[in-house]
Amino acid sequence: MTLLGAIEAGGTKFVCAVSDDQLTIQERVTIPTTTPEETMKQVFAFFDRFEIAAIGVGSFGPIDINTESPTYGYITTTPKTAWENFDFLSSLKTRYDVPMGWTTDVNAAALGELEKGAAKENHSCVYLTVGTGIGGGAVVNGQPLEGFGHPEMGHLLVRTHPDDSFEGLCPYHGNCLEGLASGPAIEKRYGKKGHELGDRNDVWEMEADYLAQALVSYALVLSPEKFILGGGVMKQQQLFPMIREKFTEKMAGYVAVPEMNSYIVPPGLGDDAGITGSLILAQRELNVK
Ligand code: ADP
Ligand code: ZN
Repeated sequence: MTLLGAIEAGGTKFVCAVSDDQLTIQERVTIPTTTPEETMKQVFAFFDRFEIAAIGVGSFGPIDINTESPTYGYITTTPKTAWENFDFLSSLKTRYDVPMGWTTDVNAAALGELEKGAAKENHSCVYLTVGTGIGGGAVVNGQPLEGFGHPEMGHLLVRTHPDDSFEGLCPYHGNCLEGLASGPAIEKRYGKKGHELGDRNDVWEMEADYLAQALVSYALVLSPEKFILGGGVMKQQQLFPMIREKFTEKMAGYVAVPEMNSYIVPPGLGDDAGITGSLILAQRELNVK
């Protein structure tokens, strides 16, 4: 039986999984993201037990996905300094000499949702995670969207809400989308964690305003058939109707978009979008080449 391996490499935890060629997961493990030495040791301990035919990796970043670049396969300028300039793919390749797929965690999640989740009727989607950071990935015509680098949708510039005096916390841009609307931004603005603010309508109205602004921009540029919003902050489910309403307002009828309730949705795969997409990357390494 052909076995596929996958790693969803997040800033907090790694999920590693092994599946059959139909993507049915046989075993998985969760490993804390500490240092490359410690974390990779446990990754190897897991995969060493199997005869893996290919591995797909969806990684936190920024990462280098440019196959022409000398640092292809590296995690590059991450604020998690232990992982800065870590040659992730070589570290795996020296242990397992098998084909490897490599993209961002959010591109992998978008791919998982497109093939197996909320967007399985579609050819394109955007996956946005709103958590400790904000990150977005896209699949267009079945392929993860990549260019010279990968999309950095979280750092979109947005208009400050008229009631917002918070300066934003992005170390690069201050008040970009991530700077204003990530979980830590909410916490810093109100002095309380997001999950403690559930009954504060104004908090989520403002949050929805920022996210709707971003989605309108993504829609105007990419015209995805579906938006999938995940991450800790989106556990506030009241955000969904608010974002749909504000998206419609801001788009102002300029371009026709799909029916709202099925256009901006939570992940169909729940927390498994990223690992599923990473398995699909591995599967594609075997099928496509
Ligand atoms: P990460 O982005 O680190 O992978 P999460 O997606 O869980 O992890 O995001 C964590 C962030 O989401 C934290 O800032 C946390 O305060 C926020 N968060 C988690 N749960 C909720 C909730 N129920 N309501 C609002 N914010 C939440
Ligand atoms: Zn930024």
